[in-house]
Amino acid sequence: MLQYAEQLLKDYFGYDSFRMVQKQVIENVLNGSDTLCVMPTGGGKSLCYQIPALALDGLTIVVSPLISLMKDQVDMLRSNGIPADFINSSLTFQEVNEVMNHVYSQRTKLLYIAPERLENDSFCQDLKQLKVSLIAIDEAHCISQWGHDFRPSYRSIQKIFSLWPHKPTVIALTATATPNVREDICHLLQIDSESVFISGFNRENLSFKVLVGENKDQYIKKYISNNPQEAGIIYAATRKSVESIHAMLLQKGITAAKYHGGMFEEDRNYEQNRFLNDEAQVMVATNAFGMGINKTNVRFVLHYQMPRNIESYYQEAGRAGRDGVESECILLYSSSDEQTHRFLIDQSQDPTRIPIELQKLQQMIDYCHTENCLQSYMVNYFGEQEIQDCGKCGNCADERPKQDVTEDAQKVLSCVVRMGQNYGKTLTSQVLAGARNKKVEAFQHLTTYGILKHLSAKAVANFIDFLISERLLLVKAGQYPTIYVSPEGKEVLLGKRRVLRRTIVEKAVVVNQND
Ligand code: ADP
Repeated sequence: MLQYAEQLLKDYFGYDSFRMVQKQVIENVLNGSDTLCVMPTGGGKSLCYQIPALALDGLTIVVSPLISLMKDQVDMLRSNGIPADFINSSLTFQEVNEVMNHVYSQRTKLLYIAPERLENDSFCQDLKQLKVSLIAIDEAHCISQWGHDFRPSYRSIQKIFSLWPHKPTVIALTATATPNVREDICHLLQIDSESVFISGFNRENLSFKVLVGENKDQYIKKYISNNPQEAGIIYAATRKSVESIHAMLLQKGITAAKYHGGMFEEDRNYEQNRFLNDEAQVMVATNAFGMGINKTNVRFVLHYQMPRNIESYYQEAGRAGRDGVESECILLYSSSDEQTHRFLIDQSQDPTRIPIELQKLQQMIDYCHTENCLQSYMVNYFGEQEIQDCGKCGNCADERPKQDVTEDAQKVLSCVVRMGQNYGKTLTSQVLAGARNKKVEAFQHLTTYGILKHLSAKAVANFIDFLISERLLLVKAGQYPTIYVSPEGKEVLLGKRRVLRRTIVEKAVVVNQND
């Protein structure tokens, strides 16, 4: 069967071999096992259901929320000689009937539909008459409350499984599946853990770096003047910062384009094209820029602020080095980014999403404080098997020796315990640094009050972030997040575990310009 799949790959798509886990996924599907396939955008997920669709008897239904992309997919398949159709709200009643005639007379192999269509009973009754061998669920994270794009209509997908005496095989596909989303998809669609395949998140030609406390404007100007020939993107969180960075670069004589949601579409397109055609070296943009952009020679992506979660960061940073050439992804971190995101999340439309968003934000903050391999951090976040350290990210390349900071860690952890594990990072760091203000008064009697007073409260907060990224402290999410000691942290308190850190904590006198 697999040989046949390889033949189909060659005959219909002109490719010689499968990529990454495509082969295992296809084999699993052809064996009749329900499967989850997680690969980043551009990884090659479509072939994972298109090849089985060709290999199996009967029809494959592809559920996709991306109405605008359905037509492109179908056109591409047809141009490869594969009979495919789509039904969505862009079709007239008449056109839908025509498509259904194709389907009934078995003149189509793949039928793309929007999930809302499955809420229509008479459509489901029509489906019941057909021989459906495979149901492919694209953008499968939409089925999960934990996903960034939950769609209630995705929950109707399960209902159609019982339309036929034999349930068709199911393949779910997504680019964003953190452990929670993955578990949710598997639980809702009853997919076994052996049938989950994840690959492709490792981007070997990218070197990631996090810079803390840099003067961001100076850094950007210097970086671009050191790389005068290279195209790059600078992502900023707000329209206002896009405007000011853009103006700053123009003043330096750098050809810069800009892109954000507050501009007229015409101006946005004009600016985008200048960047795509290499007329502008640098694009300064909000996250509105980048979807569907195919510029392969982007050599650097700088983030002026920390994005709100790893998914966004991975997607934006991942626009560097599409051509496989070495490229850099640099995040300029300042602790105020965290406050901005917390504020925005608190204002969020849907309060049920707040804890989820806060947890994702915490994982983003951890990325900024970890001293472990950044590439591995990202790959692990997406649930792919552990990879070897990349050897070139900011942390792997950091040659400073690690210092034993166990004693300071014990001081922090014991202070957290003494405060009842019921307070946040800021207050705890003020207590440790021996600050004098109304809020810390209640803790002045503690033996841990001022126990790190040779450090600034900010440096202590930074150290706490590091301990969180090491999972020695955990964060209880909420409007006022609190910190508590993890089981590993308890081992540190008991002297059973040591803590090593590269970063030298700055003394109280050092004032950070940027924060
Ligand atoms: P995804 O759905 O994961 O975003 P696609 O399925 O659109 O990605 O695939 C991205 C590109 O990679 C497409 O142009 C596709 O034709 C190409 N591709 C997929 N699999 C292979 C392969 N085995 N060999 C060569 N090219 C492939």
